[in-house]
Amino acid sequence: MNKKSLEDIEVQGKRVLARVDFNVPQSDAGAITDDTRIVAALPTITHLISHGAKTILVSHLGRPMGVTPKYTLKPVAERLSKLLGKEVTLLPDCVGDEVEAAIANMQPGDVLLLENVRFYPEEEANDPDFAEKLASLADLYVNDAFGTAHRAHASTEGVTHHLPAVGGYLMRKELDYLGSALTDPKRPFVAILGGAKVKDKIAVIQQLITQVDTLIIGGGMAYTFLKAQGLEIGKSLLDAKNLDFCREILANAGDKLLLPDDVIITNANPFEVGEEACETRVASVNDIPADWEGADIGPNTIAKFSAAIKGAGTVVWNGPMGIFEFSKFAEGTRSLALALAESGAITIIGGGDSAAAVVQMGYGDKMTHISTGGGASLEFLEGKPLPGVVALQDKN
Ligand code: AMP
Repeated sequence: MNKKSLEDIEVQGKRVLARVDFNVPQSDAGAITDDTRIVAALPTITHLISHGAKTILVSHLGRPMGVTPKYTLKPVAERLSKLLGKEVTLLPDCVGDEVEAAIANMQPGDVLLLENVRFYPEEEANDPDFAEKLASLADLYVNDAFGTAHRAHASTEGVTHHLPAVGGYLMRKELDYLGSALTDPKRPFVAILGGAKVKDKIAVIQQLITQVDTLIIGGGMAYTFLKAQGLEIGKSLLDAKNLDFCREILANAGDKLLLPDDVIITNANPFEVGEEACETRVASVNDIPADWEGADIGPNTIAKFSAAIKGAGTVVWNGPMGIFEFSKFAEGTRSLALALAESGAITIIGGGDSAAAVVQMGYGDKMTHISTGGGASLEFLEGKPLPGVVALQDKN
């Protein structure tokens, strides 16, 4: 990372505003179901504590419309206190008199958590006055929220106009892994893209196709490519507006591009009828019946994709190979996770559904890096500058 990080600043006795990404999944009852993002922020927080900073943590949770009790950071404060073995007080707000008074009473080594910054619409609007108020709470700013770095919000970008701003350890780790995969990949460099829509992955396909040795496309988005080749895809997902884009990629990609040869088809949508009610079959991509849809990659495709992964030096993966939420259609995603785990390649999972799948399937600790930011890692792979990173101070 060519940006300043924690090691480049002296934090002893200073008030440090640390933007973290505590946007964790929760059950309907409000229990945290996955604390990966809290755990991932610990190296930065413990550095600040051990170096005598007064640490003021700021995060968003969910998409509240104004103050919404359901989106309080209370469960996060409790989990963080347990993980740190140290009391982390949640303040009732993120700006204002009460917050200022609490910060004035802090001692070096103390940690406070501000209440959900998105209770203020000014956060996402990157309102300059709101950013200034947030910044006025501290002497220094550390951004460790990679998962939100693709958004120019008050707490990720606005505050940097008022405070010396550096990256935290998680931010650096994410940028180092994703960055070196793109700039200096160990070859062969294989990218795997899946998920539902071509539309969401156009920019990343355009970028990766110029850099990789092999681009594997599976999941729902593969069917628009198959259709673009003139095949009948039945009721499979089709992104009709992007057929021309797929034709252009097919015309230029040569043997770099790997698509499914066979798929698991079903006569019903598992989200609508439940998976028990779905009949399934293996079908060649040349033989998808009009009233069936493709819901996972088939065994020959798993073998073909796994062979490409086996010989890879670097693999970057974003998006599941099928409707992996249901076990009948999760085999493709599971098999590729296993292929990555056994590959010996540098393996980078680009957040979101693929990260959840890899962890759920028990291969999390076999991967080189699992990104904490789905949207942010996708934008990074697209080659777009991330506003939350651009805003940090340069190293030199
Ligand atoms: P994305 O957010 O674009 O990465 O897409 C993830 C979603 O794609 C998951 O909810 C999957 O169920 C869905 N998906 C993957 N493969 C298929 C498919 N063949 N048909 C329909 N949906 C799919």
